[in-house]
Order: sequence, then C-alpha cells, then structure tokens
Amino acid sequence: MSVSPASRKPDKERKKPMPTCQNCGFKWSWKDTMKLNFKGKWPCANCGREQYVSGKSSFWGSLLFSMPFVFLMNYLRLSHGVGWLPIILLFIVYLPVASLLMPFVFKLSNAKNRFGKPIE
Ligand SMILES: [Zn+2]
Repeated sequence: MSVSPASRKPDKERKKPMPTCQNCGFKWSWKDTMKLNFKGKWPCANCGREQYVSGKSSFWGSLLFSMPFVFLMNYLRLSHGVGWLPIILLFIVYLPVASLLMPFVFKLSNAKNRFGKPIE
C-alpha cells in the first residue's frame, strides 16, 4: 500500500486562504467567490456543483465587513462631530477594501446550511 503523491496537496497549497470546493477540492478564484458572496450560491468552476457560503464563515464575513465601519462611524460622529458626508465618502472607499478581504474568510459548503450550523 502506497499513497499516491498526487492525492496529497502540498502544504503551500493548503495555506492559501482562498476557499476550496467541498465537492472536488478545487481552489476558487476571487472572482467566483465574490459572485458567491452576492448570489448566496455559485457553481464550482471545476465540477459545476453549486456551493454555498457556510453559515459560520458568512457570519465572520459580515462581521469583517460591517464592524470596523460601524465603530469608526460612531467614533467620528460622537467624538468629532463629523457630518454624514465624510462618513459616506469613507464608506465608498472602505467598500472595495472590505470586498477584497471577504473571500479570505469564506468557506464553502455543499448544501445551504443554517446560520451557526456549519456542515463539517
Ligand atoms: Zn468543485
């Protein structure tokens, strides 16, 4: 009995933060991950099976996306009396930055699952 080298992924592959398909192990591109983010589900580019964002990672994704901004907004408004215009401008700048980071916290799942109940 010998383990085929092809069946084991090299360590450096595993450390890449992009989400992988739970059906075939294919590493998703950032673009596909963003589509999944907006649609809630998206077929794997490799095997075609629809993947969902796992509930847990969706939670962390939303947190990553909204928390820093909410804190900053409250801080600026309460401590510095900043008006809405600079805050809206800040949000416009923050949006793409947060979007870039989103795929790194996502995990895929074969089935739609309820919040806080990841299938693993
Ligand atoms: Zn796949």
